Amino acid sequence: MKLSIVVPCYNEEAVIGRFDDRIRTVLDDLAVEYELCYVDDGSTDGTLPRIRSLAQQHRDTTRYLSFSRNFGKEPAILAGLKEATGDAVIIMDADLQHPPELIEKMLDLYQLGHDQVIAKRSREGDRRLRTALTRMYYRAVNTWVDVELADGVGDFRLLSRTAVDALISLPEYNRFSKGLFSWIGFDTITFDYRNAAREAGETKWRLGSLVNYGIDGMLSFNCRPLRLAIYAGLSLAVLATLYAFWVIGAALAGGITAPGYVTLVAIIVGLGGLQMLMLGLIGEYIGRIYYESKQRPHFLVKESGGTPRTGRPAQS
Ligand code: UDP
Ligand code: MG
Repeated sequence: MKLSIVVPCYNEEAVIGRFDDRIRTVLDDLAVEYELCYVDDGSTDGTLPRIRSLAQQHRDTTRYLSFSRNFGKEPAILAGLKEATGDAVIIMDADLQHPPELIEKMLDLYQLGHDQVIAKRSREGDRRLRTALTRMYYRAVNTWVDVELADGVGDFRLLSRTAVDALISLPEYNRFSKGLFSWIGFDTITFDYRNAAREAGETKWRLGSLVNYGIDGMLSFNCRPLRLAIYAGLSLAVLATLYAFWVIGAALAGGITAPGYVTLVAIIVGLGGLQMLMLGLIGEYIGRIYYESKQRPHFLVKESGGTPRTGRPAQS
């Protein structure tokens, strides 16, 4: 069998050489036929020249792509999956947070017939605020979203050829791969590992991008938030009716008095806010339809090289 390792890289010049060294040591020990697929996601530092020279050094086992600009990790993974020719594909970060030593275990589990072998990480090496926020997020998302998302389960996983083909057959532009992995299903097994801290360089995630990623996760898979808007509207209507009856009753019993300036303002502002929120929600879905309808490619490649792509035909 042949194993492909897909590595999305964005500004990883500080660590990519070390990554390459370590993973090759592991793979050579395993005595398995392999290829490394580096996807340079429009890095602005020396990542691309480094990948180029790695591809030159290890001509038979390295393949690389370089994007015309930074498209994001999801498109980079997709590109790598399309490029990979192996019977099994492992997706790994370039920063050595995913220990290459786990590959052996993943292969063993793959050989037992699993199509997705997921390495689930602990959150050591992450900031405490981030850990707490993620935990809250997953609790919320799992009550909202149809597919199941688990904390600590990321992109580090082995996929069989069947699973890879299923993934690249999903055409959507807005790719939330955590959800896609879970959506395709197949025989899945998860094991735990201790996460290492990033070896060098720095994380590409800012709190803002995490929040956006979070919203993506909630909206990418169903229309349940819209259903929630309907429920909120319904409950408010019921409450308003009850309140109206109560006010009429009070007026009949005791005549009309007109206090309640604060109540009035609070209700107007509160409802206004709620309406904006719901409008934003609808807008978000429409925005997604807009992006999907443009049918733009997920990424543009400015350069590719290394091992000529043989074996499986290129999918577009
Ligand atoms: N990455 C990428 N494109 C991006 C951001 C990140 O290809 O726009 C890659 C990055 O080079 C790394 C992996 O995705 O190999 C994970 O990124 P990072 O370590 O910054 O994320 P974290 O581990 O903090 O979640
Ligand atoms: Mg990382």
